[in-house]
Amino acid sequence: MIACDFDGTITERDTLNLLVREFGDGAVWDAMEPDVRAGRTSVEHAMQAEFATVRVSEADAVRWVREHAGIRAGFTECVAWARAHGHGFVVLSNGFGVLIRDVLGGLGLGDLPVHSHECAFTPEGSAIAWTERGEPCPLCSRPCKRHDLARVRGDARVVYVGDGISDLCVAQAADIIYARADLADYLKSRGVPFRPFRDFHQIVTDLSPPTDAA
Ligand SMILES: [Mg+2]
Ligand SMILES: [Zn+2]
Repeated sequence: MIACDFDGTITERDTLNLLVREFGDGAVWDAMEPDVRAGRTSVEHAMQAEFATVRVSEADAVRWVREHAGIRAGFTECVAWARAHGHGFVVLSNGFGVLIRDVLGGLGLGDLPVHSHECAFTPEGSAIAWTERGEPCPLCSRPCKRHDLARVRGDARVVYVGDGISDLCVAQAADIIYARADLADYLKSRGVPFRPFRDFHQIVTDLSPPTDAA
């Protein structure tokens, strides 16, 4: 199966950044970042404070994201290819389902399984609803996408596709990793093998014809 990050992977831009920049106060995150880095504040706490400043209706939030996120080339073709070959395709995200489902719906892919957090957007400020990821991950000590992958993978071989720090832990649970941007840098610095990618056409080409069951 293919397990795929959303922000910066399926989309060209990070949808959470888009919303904070347009409707919120990015200075909140900047002020808290030293505490996050030092471990005095959790990423989740800092994100909650940041999104409390995002004042926008849900309708305007999803419209803004759909208009500005940009879809990485070959994504819909990659999903169609996976389905035609009987490979599962799931989206694992630290972003918000309400945004992800709208973007995917606009691509005719509203039926793709999505595991993510949620956010209630209001003009008075927005509230994140964290998804249940069980105990903190034993590797990264955070509520981690590795938990979601473990729940859905069964005995399938897993191809993971991602771009960021939140993918680092889950990617290493996969059999094949496609990485770009920060994720590629992190994996390289740790000596973890991965395949670089720029778009989903490359991934389809790289994975086909299906490799033999060595
Ligand atoms: Mg990402
Ligand atoms: Zn983890």
